[in-house]
Amino acid sequence: MKKIVIIGSGFSSLSAACYLAKAGFDVHVYEKNATVGGRARQLKKDGFTFDIGPSWYWMPDIFEKFFNDFQKKTADYYKLDKLSPAYKIFFTDDVITIGDSMDKICEEFERIETGSAKHLRNFIKKAQDNYDIAINKIVLRPGLSPLELVTKDTVLRVDQFFKTISQEVRRKFSNPKLISTLEFPVLFLGAKPSKTPSFYSFMNFADFGLGTWHPEGGMYEIIKAMRSLAEELGVKINTNSPAEQIQVTNGLTTGIVVHGETVNADIVLSGADYHHSETLLEERYRQYSENYWDKKTYAPSSLLFYVGFDKKLNNIEHHNLFFDTDFEKHAEEIYDEPVWPSEPLFYANFPSITDGSMAPKNCETGFFLIPIAPNLEDTQELRQQYFDIIMDRFEKRTQQDVKNNIIFKESFCVNDFIDEYNSYKGNAYGMANTLTQTAFLRPGLKSKKVENMYFTGQLTVPGPGVPPSLISGKLVSDLIIKNTRK
Ligand SMILES: Cc1cc2nc3c(=O)[nH]c(=O)nc-3n(C[C@H](O)[C@H](O)[C@H](O)COP(=O)(O)OP(=O)(O)OC[C@H]3O[C@@H](n4cnc5c(N)ncnc54)[C@H](O)[C@@H]3O)c2cc1C
Repeated sequence: MKKIVIIGSGFSSLSAACYLAKAGFDVHVYEKNATVGGRARQLKKDGFTFDIGPSWYWMPDIFEKFFNDFQKKTADYYKLDKLSPAYKIFFTDDVITIGDSMDKICEEFERIETGSAKHLRNFIKKAQDNYDIAINKIVLRPGLSPLELVTKDTVLRVDQFFKTISQEVRRKFSNPKLISTLEFPVLFLGAKPSKTPSFYSFMNFADFGLGTWHPEGGMYEIIKAMRSLAEELGVKINTNSPAEQIQVTNGLTTGIVVHGETVNADIVLSGADYHHSETLLEERYRQYSENYWDKKTYAPSSLLFYVGFDKKLNNIEHHNLFFDTDFEKHAEEIYDEPVWPSEPLFYANFPSITDGSMAPKNCETGFFLIPIAPNLEDTQELRQQYFDIIMDRFEKRTQQDVKNNIIFKESFCVNDFIDEYNSYKGNAYGMANTLTQTAFLRPGLKSKKVENMYFTGQLTVPGPGVPPSLISGKLVSDLIIKNTRK
């Protein structure tokens, strides 16, 4: 039985661990932190439960498919609720509510712009076709060759790779609020809508077509489910076990070093941030230079606040976007001229609105996220300054006082992403999915310099997000299984 060591225990590592154990490998996971889950860890404090990373459960089909591959279903591990409404968007002069069906969303669009419902249905139909092609075909390819992208379906849609989502949306909709609403889903891919090909409108189908879901107990239930599945399959998981070095002899890895001791392996797979993983190798075995990493476009980092309120809040939903400032300007301050945003957009999540288990009785669990450029200076003073800014805006937009009801508050920002996850420049969501950073143009799943060394996770294929990380784990496992059987 071949032994494989996996560095990290995020979604991609746990996914790969399950597939590789099922294929008969002896799988050992080494995670530097005290708990598994990577960016999807959980914070529990005074009866409040916070998912400290991902909170949007989109693309339920991908989670279902993952568990089905092991003759299981998500319902064997956690209960899913479809959120109704899916989310709310606050603008300066209005609030848009995104319902749980196309009919409800069309009604809301029509309220804002007469005639827009018809355009929306056509737009989402096209987005659905793209979803079928992207998710069921393209994304399942390992990014080894440009030819993977050339299919009958993509050739027919080649124009959609050279037009941006911004152009496509603006062709059909003129109201700025509807434009922002339709540009929001591609932000999950980590780049500006004006830099994201219109083919990626499949994210709009994920949003309006498939809906927004919540696992009861929070997103960490998925991690618990994957850990439990991995252990059922025989995976051994070691926490508080940072990989300090990846050992190579004659172009082959022989294992890793943990707490100064060698752990032997036939194959090493790293699901830690790609740049960090390469630094664990001697320089001559690294594939990408510091210059290469420096020039890439990263998905944003984030300033996050986990806040416990001692009362129930009004006029909010489970997911809330505060788009009451200039979307374009904030995007420029993330991607073009990286600085702390002058007037940040932000996202606020209150899982206790729909799930009583997330907060003590008559209290509210709040998670606030401001997307920022990676690598910014990060100080406690700056964090507090931005907390005050968003709290003022939150009170104003939702018409209530909340500042005196805060009984718990913790923050997380660039320095924590670096300390906790060895994240390059403190990025939160990995490398952006732009046209020049897609598929075979992303850092590869297999090392070109070390024969039995592989990588997975949000910096390689297919890209950032929980569903892509699950897929990344499958893609790298398929490759390892294929190469081992040669
Ligand atoms: C704040 C935030 C909000 C997000 N929101 C969403 C969302 O709503 N929906 C969505 O789909 N996605 C969301 N994402 C993105 C999603 O969480 C990530 O794409 C995904 O979790 C990445 O998984 P991964 O396996 O690639 O990496 P990670 O989760 O980063 O896992 C890597 C692991 O490697 C470990 N590690 C690092 N160095 C070492 C070492 N030397 N030795 C051992 N272990 C090591 C780290 O501790 C970590 O556990 C969000 C991300 C963040 C940060």
